Amino acid sequence: MRLFDDQGMMIFPSPLSPEFRERKHVLVVSACYCPNRHNLVNSRAQFNEFDGILLRLRKGEEDGLVALSPVYGDRSRISLGLRLERSDVYTLLCPECGITLPVYDQCDCGADLFALFMTEDVSFANCICVCSRVGCHHSVVRHGNEVLTEAAIQHLARRT
Ligand SMILES: [Zn+2]
Ligand SMILES: [Zn+2]
Repeated sequence: MRLFDDQGMMIFPSPLSPEFRERKHVLVVSACYCPNRHNLVNSRAQFNEFDGILLRLRKGEEDGLVALSPVYGDRSRISLGLRLERSDVYTLLCPECGITLPVYDQCDCGADLFALFMTEDVSFANCICVCSRVGCHHSVVRHGNEVLTEAAIQHLARRT
């Protein structure tokens, strides 16, 4: 059942949270890194039994923390010290060292897609990219040459 645990992710049987109850498997990010190799998955932010992804967000004078659910496709998030306004665009930083996370690409919505590296060699070949616009749920998981989609995750899970 465990997939990619050397790549910083695992696929678990779906937890019983309502929005995922109908899915057989979910992708859970178990580790992801800033360019200085700080693990952004933090036990201080819990989503059900999983540790969340803790990020620092900045927009002008505003600065705060946000925890994202590590379950791919789950849009749950908690913000601390920030009032997130829908469609506002933030810069994503590492809460540990304050480095700005690298921009992987531009999202279809026009905001930047920031990369969270899935492996400690901090390569764009294995990363999860999240949009910096509040309310835009576009995200991409890159695994080697593949871009994982929800369908691909279900397919991978079936092969184990
Ligand atoms: Zn860092
Ligand atoms: Zn977007």
